[in-house]
Amino acid sequence: MTLRRATAAAIALLAARGAHAQQTIVPRSLSADSATRAAIASRYPRDRSDTLPAFPLHELAPGVYAVLGDTGRGVEGRPNAGFVVTPAGVVVIDALASPGEGRVLMRTIRTVTRAPVRYLVLTHHHPDHTFGAIVFKRAGARVIAHPDRRTLANIDGDDRLASDWTGVMGLEQMRGFAYADTPDIPVRRDTMLVVGGRRIEIVRPGPAHTPGDLMVWLPNERVVFAGDVLVEDGVSMMVDGSSAAMLAALSRIDALDPRVAVPGHGRLATHPATLVATTRCYVLALRDTMRRAVADGVRMGLALDQLPPADRDRPVSLHSRLRRNAVRVYSEMEQALLGSSPSKAALAAEARQLATCPQHGSNAR
Ligand SMILES: [Zn+2]
Repeated sequence: MTLRRATAAAIALLAARGAHAQQTIVPRSLSADSATRAAIASRYPRDRSDTLPAFPLHELAPGVYAVLGDTGRGVEGRPNAGFVVTPAGVVVIDALASPGEGRVLMRTIRTVTRAPVRYLVLTHHHPDHTFGAIVFKRAGARVIAHPDRRTLANIDGDDRLASDWTGVMGLEQMRGFAYADTPDIPVRRDTMLVVGGRRIEIVRPGPAHTPGDLMVWLPNERVVFAGDVLVEDGVSMMVDGSSAAMLAALSRIDALDPRVAVPGHGRLATHPATLVATTRCYVLALRDTMRRAVADGVRMGLALDQLPPADRDRPVSLHSRLRRNAVRVYSEMEQALLGSSPSKAALAAEARQLATCPQHGSNAR
């Protein structure tokens, strides 16, 4: 097919959609390949979550819901989201990975309430948590997010990310996509929101998972929506953030003392302190190993030797996360060696914490 015919097809597709959507953007690099819906569907044979009536729902407290994604798939599956119903409208937490998923999330909310969605809070700027945001924006919600949108995923620009992500989700799921993660209400520090008499704290944990991390804390219900600072298997990604900030963010969650934590991915943590401790032990052990390797002059390649290889084409599988985090933390420790190293007291505090971890208690130096 010529580029001109393909472009004409894309324009026809846009025109056909115009009746339904106010604003539709087909990612530029896709338009040359947008032949027919049938061809596209055959290229992306997959389960389409937008054919689901609703996602599973879990009421954590009166009017506070977790919308559960996949469990047992680490961070590869559909993420979690949530929402809070107040007399003045609904506050949604995270928008899922596509307009298709956003539409099902909206239908899921509508099984509970007809109230308008006032706010959408984004816990960070990864596409699996934000690419459904346009659905809520078009429904009138104001977006609350950290203004720092930088991640490795969009390092080559927003168009490239939208195009790549369409390859992951499929064009049908991405129908109606436009970026909507730039905040209407930018939040850079802890901020209290009172909606319909409900207290909703937007917590800034620091650049732990990404530079734009936020968490949502309901002090009266003691529920925290932690974003990807917590994930079900305790191996939180730090390649867009840092391990020091991750440790600080975990301490922050401990200080909140939540009754329930909703991780970014996977099953609910009904004993949040346990998931926090597991995550902390993983981070501390990795920092300890890499700090020793750097201090002993062990090359990065050798330092990574103990780890299984990363999985091809699965950048966030468990093995890929372990390896990518290790690379990141090795570099952090190199930087620390070259620059202003942490104080002896800080190192001793980390060693003491690590000594309480299950595999390290007995043989900690
Ligand atoms: Zn993420």
